[in-house]
Amino acid sequence: LPVPAPGRTPPRALTIAGSDSGGGAGIQADLRTMAMSGVHACVAVAAVTMQNTTGVTGVHPVPPEIVAGQIRTVVQDIGVQAAKTGMVAEAPIIEAIVETCIGIGIGGGRGSAESHDGAPRCAVPLVVDPVCASMHGDPLLKPHSLAALRDLLVPLADLVTPNLDEVRLLTGVDVTDGATQRDAARALVGLGARWALVTGGHLRAGADGPTGESTDLLFDGRDWFEFSGPRVHTGDDHGGGDTLAAAITCALATGAAMPDAVAHGKDWVTRCLRWAYPLGAGHGPVSPLW
Ligand code: PLP
Repeated sequence: LPVPAPGRTPPRALTIAGSDSGGGAGIQADLRTMAMSGVHACVAVAAVTMQNTTGVTGVHPVPPEIVAGQIRTVVQDIGVQAAKTGMVAEAPIIEAIVETCIGIGIGGGRGSAESHDGAPRCAVPLVVDPVCASMHGDPLLKPHSLAALRDLLVPLADLVTPNLDEVRLLTGVDVTDGATQRDAARALVGLGARWALVTGGHLRAGADGPTGESTDLLFDGRDWFEFSGPRVHTGDDHGGGDTLAAAITCALATGAAMPDAVAHGKDWVTRCLRWAYPLGAGHGPVSPLW
């Protein structure tokens, strides 16, 4: 990504996400990646979690009007070139985010304002990381809010970046190999996302071939792009999904085309997995602090 110049305003990105008090995932992961990428990060906090490396012990959703207000306030003054969502906690917050984003031109998915009024407009690209649960299985999305995530937020997305559990929840497709990975990508684009990225990192080792590579698949309803990288074996991968989506968002904020942004994100998260460190008694975080 471009190196920032002294005194020059850098690209700006907005993260709409949850706080991880343990500093590993969520907003804290986004902020680390954005700062290390030379991108100014604006934040709309959607939820506060009580969490450490062993799990989540409490969630406090932020009132929807406060989430919407953070987004509007930031965009009016500072302006952003890309945005991402992470943990959005519950349906009323999702509804507020979607209404606000449509109103101010964030999100170029098939459910966006661009599609609504038929007039082409220069939407700010939106990456939707459809966070449903922590790696320990703690719910980060209220049980009856999945429909809002699937039917309102995903259709606004320029890119949706689910992990394999989230793919199953959103589409019903159980990804076990390259063929089902393609089925999942088709189903996600069918939900309205402009692009879908189905990562292979959590596929059973060996399911994606004997090479020890992890292959991510990107699809826009027409063209397929494959991104392969070495599978990094670590138990310390907390915040990996957030970091991938944040790095892609940074590249989009600098004007990169989607396939280039995803290639950058894949490379970034692979490095962050190599620099992951042990922390506490549970799973340590991936780290961009190389
Ligand atoms: N906490 C928050 C606030 C998150 O946004 C996320 C993931 O997006 C997590 C926890 C879970 O991260 P992981 O699945 O890497 O444990």
